[in-house]
Amino acid sequence: MIPLTKNDKVSLKYQHSPLADVHTQLGILEHGRTGDFALVPFQQKLEESGLYPLKPTGVQIFQVNVGKMCNQACRHCHVDAGPDRKEIMTKETMQECLNALKNNPELKSVDLTGGAPEMNPDFRWFVAEIKKLDRHVIVRCNLTIILANKKYYDLPQFYKQHSIEVVSSLPFYTQDRTDRQRGDGVFEDSIKALQMLNEVGYGKEGTGLILNLVYNPAGAFLSPAQTSLEKEYKKALMERYGIVFNNLFTITNLPISRFLDYLLQSGNYEKYMERLVNAYNPVAAQNVMCRNTISISWDGYLYDCDFNQMLDLKVNNASKHISAFNTATLNERSIVVNQHCYGCTAGAGSSCGGVVA
Ligand code: SF4
Ligand code: SF4
Repeated sequence: MIPLTKNDKVSLKYQHSPLADVHTQLGILEHGRTGDFALVPFQQKLEESGLYPLKPTGVQIFQVNVGKMCNQACRHCHVDAGPDRKEIMTKETMQECLNALKNNPELKSVDLTGGAPEMNPDFRWFVAEIKKLDRHVIVRCNLTIILANKKYYDLPQFYKQHSIEVVSSLPFYTQDRTDRQRGDGVFEDSIKALQMLNEVGYGKEGTGLILNLVYNPAGAFLSPAQTSLEKEYKKALMERYGIVFNNLFTITNLPISRFLDYLLQSGNYEKYMERLVNAYNPVAAQNVMCRNTISISWDGYLYDCDFNQMLDLKVNNASKHISAFNTATLNERSIVVNQHCYGCTAGAGSSCGGVVA
């Protein structure tokens, strides 16, 4: 039996939780906590859908995780990020990413994530250099970072100056549900940050400045329909706080890292996994984001997605590092899948851009 985490204010790694070890996580995903829980292998489901081995449709999105440091320590975080995490991408590795972008114009979109990507001291330099290569840049901004220190107060202007698409988590449009998942005071600061983004034009019609929000469930359940929830968010945020935004992405929590810890602690693990498996949707499986995305870790290794990155499941390719990036061989690889992948194929599916089916 795995001892569970007691303190959820810091990372699993800091607490020396057994779940900080990816082998422990993978063991639970395959056999359950007590070793006697097994579900249909995800590979088998893909095979039944004619999708195994899962192949890329062509890498277009270059997702870079610039570090695990974060000003927050959310309960559901799949990165196990937090203020105690020190792993960040160096300028040298960023330069290798820039070289890969320069040599591969088909990588049209660069998606910057973390942790809080803005906490990397070379973040602004990196963004400016990517923009010189004329790529679309998405930043996954947790909102509260904008108010965390005065050196971040001008982030909305910085994003605007570089025409960055901002994607921000707001688990719900009420304080209690947001703070429960992300920490005390997060909702209030998130609202202020959204107002600051609106002030410079983000989310407003005609500005071209895109502000998308992300919803993820607070517990062991799937997201409601994206379109109706978006309407609900838009109405509530406008009426209560005068906030506008473009799209809402609903994202399923994958059973890894701190969300896995939550599932185990709350006794919901088996029920949640069964729910994901029962909701398997072959159309969503066809459109999973790993088919057109490559994910780069803070130390330059290549993964099929940010979730595989957190489970240290590197790409099944001769070159596994950004220093020898080769889209031709990457496009031929078989994507590494495992039981956590059920999170991407349940219901309408889930990706960094919301539903996929
Ligand atoms: S803001 Fe994002 S990266 Fe930071 S702890 Fe929360 S979920 Fe993790
Ligand atoms: S978890 Fe990653 S590898 Fe698995 S289906 Fe989702 S995006 Fe693909």
